[in-house]
Amino acid sequence: MKAIAAGLLAALALAAAPALAKPVLTPEAQAGVLRDDALQSNAAYQWVSDITTRFGARPAGSAKERAAGEWAAARLKAMGFDTAVVESFPYHAWVRGANDSIEITGPFPQKLAGVALGGSTAGEVEAEAVIFDSWQAFVDSTADVTGKIVVILQPMARSTAGEGYGATSGPIRWAGPMAAQKRGAVGFVMRSLSTDDHRFPHAGATNWSDGKGIPAMAISSPDAEQLGRISAMQRKGEAGPVKIHMTSGAVFPPVGTSVNVVAEIKGSEHPEQVVVIGGHLDSWDLGTGAIDDAAGHAIAIAAAKSILDHGLRPKRTIRVVLWGSEEMSQPEGFGSGGFNYARAHAAEAPNMVAAMEADFGADKVITATLPATADAAYGKTMNRLLTPLGIAIKREPSTEGDSDTDVLYNLGVPCLTLNQDGYDYFNTHHTPDDVLDRIHPENLNQVVAAWSATLWMIAGSDVTFTRPEPAKAEK
Ligand SMILES: [Zn+2]
Repeated sequence: MKAIAAGLLAALALAAAPALAKPVLTPEAQAGVLRDDALQSNAAYQWVSDITTRFGARPAGSAKERAAGEWAAARLKAMGFDTAVVESFPYHAWVRGANDSIEITGPFPQKLAGVALGGSTAGEVEAEAVIFDSWQAFVDSTADVTGKIVVILQPMARSTAGEGYGATSGPIRWAGPMAAQKRGAVGFVMRSLSTDDHRFPHAGATNWSDGKGIPAMAISSPDAEQLGRISAMQRKGEAGPVKIHMTSGAVFPPVGTSVNVVAEIKGSEHPEQVVVIGGHLDSWDLGTGAIDDAAGHAIAIAAAKSILDHGLRPKRTIRVVLWGSEEMSQPEGFGSGGFNYARAHAAEAPNMVAAMEADFGADKVITATLPATADAAYGKTMNRLLTPLGIAIKREPSTEGDSDTDVLYNLGVPCLTLNQDGYDYFNTHHTPDDVLDRIHPENLNQVVAAWSATLWMIAGSDVTFTRPEPAKAEK
């Protein structure tokens, strides 16, 4: 009985970790097999389920983030990665207070659904509100906001590529509180960067105030509509001035640590040549960070795992990175996981063949932005591999990285992006509703299928990309 069990265990151990072998198929044929098998794997969904169930939210620089990082490294090692380590870096966390609150105290008293923005200063203020329909209206206005609360009600535009989050609405959250404070305001309120009309406020970082700013909060879309109606009545003389009372108990603990997780499958022919793939480990505190960004780093892990599961040893080293602390802006001298990773690994940048990141949800890939290359066959091969998944290749090559890989791009590392459908991404982004239940496994499998084929066509072949000019060193 015992002997049989031991024999069975030994056989299982062998089956679980086969020695990786050189592939026999052509890179394109092998990539096609990886792609098709990934469509059935559910590996990314399983990872998201595991990490969000075990750890829940993983705020930047928190003990939960570090524990999740330690767990992930052990799990990756067990999965068959050659190495998996946790790299720590100093980090200044921000922690939400227990009792964020915001309410209208006049002319029609009522509670609003709001949360403090990350980096917001703690405080309790009650003042008259000066309400602007858009960011531009605030910028252009010469209204005296001294001693008042600035409110910006601009709705966010919805699009598959997420443009509404960047240039048009992003500055409201990033720059709004500081701009309002400069003009003498004592509080800042914005309509959430949201494309849904649920009554969830959306969290997100503003510029780091170090406790010297003003309380800054985001309110849900319906609450912004409510304020808009009262503001319209006020303008017509049907209602008195709007007064708001807001409280944030945020704290800035002493400097601690955050972590990046770095795991490798060593290359057989060019171990020094590295393909960097990943997503971020941390999340906002309100949900469990399933979509942002457990899904993203799980996609990278699942793509690498598909190669391990096929018993394949790539020519080049595959390095999966789970970047810590992507979500919070930082004061001088500190930085995100992507920044700290690039700083720690800058000497290797010339050997980084390409970098690819997923940080845009769990819906399907719809287009691919590939790096420039002199290899004419590469684009055609990728077209044949990705077309069956419903993915179109963009005509223009990549000119940037993503949230954590942009720093690498600036060091001269070619980046590529498999662009996911972001039409619904900002419905749940940074809300309590960012949970596993919002993810459709078949969509996630499609992403992993695209990633597996794309990853193999870089790590399992000799393709080279045109390296971007390293950016001038910033001070
Ligand atoms: Zn993210």
